[in-house]
Amino acid sequence: MGILEIKDVGKRFGGLKALSDVNLSVQENSCHAIIGPNGAGKSTLLNCLVGKLIPDTGSVMFQGQSVLGRSPHEINQMGISRVFQTPEIFGDLTVFENMMIPLFAKRDGAYRLHAIESVFNERTLIEEAEKMLEEVNMLDKRHMHSASMSRGDKRRLEMAMCLVQEPKLLLLDEPTAGMARADTNNTIDLLKQIKDERDITIAIIEHDMHVVFSLADRITVLAQGTPLVEDAPENIKGHPKVREAYLGE
Ligand code: ADP
Ligand code: MG
Repeated sequence: MGILEIKDVGKRFGGLKALSDVNLSVQENSCHAIIGPNGAGKSTLLNCLVGKLIPDTGSVMFQGQSVLGRSPHEINQMGISRVFQTPEIFGDLTVFENMMIPLFAKRDGAYRLHAIESVFNERTLIEEAEKMLEEVNMLDKRHMHSASMSRGDKRRLEMAMCLVQEPKLLLLDEPTAGMARADTNNTIDLLKQIKDERDITIAIIEHDMHVVFSLADRITVLAQGTPLVEDAPENIKGHPKVREAYLGE
């Protein structure tokens, strides 16, 4: 049994079958990559895991409990954290202030944006935020205005904001999309470090094959809403079905 068990999941948007017969098992403490051409249904699948979409059919079990019918917030409380395709940080706040948001949420069980004034009274949370920023090598940028940072740094901050919630499962939707090579390599290093040092499972959607092959223990290829192949990375590269569907060869 995997930490995440997806069974017979299907999702339609009107006449369009975005997902059908999706069966996928993610093993605890592994890094499982989901790859596939544009429009294959990767983001839709992720949305079904975090409560943003409800599948029409099938089941999604996390640590033996169904996530279906639960709100994104409840699913987050179960231990699933997600980094979106576009960074969801608060550009008007500094790096440090952004870090405080998930910590308030963890303490209060809800986001309290208006409590930002009281940040400086919250000693324990401040220490936690600093520790996390140090872990992702951003402590020196703590007073930087978030909006003015590079894409890579925004992503790094967003990941730190997820990690401070101590998720058991981290979901990443194209974390290196639009990044310069140096930022991509930094992100790979950060994810490797997270994987090695934490008791965490990672499911990653990624276009960049360099990223996928640097991190993944298992790869599922999704094509037209359904898993085509699932295997270890070394068997995926030359797989004829994959080349046909994914690389268009
Ligand atoms: P991927 O992330 O693999 O590129 P998506 O999951 O975003 O693919 O999309 C899968 C298919 O579902 C695409 O054809 C897309 O246009 C369609 N789709 C995604 N979200 C919606 C939506 N909210 N409403 C209608 N169609 C959608
Ligand atoms: Mg997508």
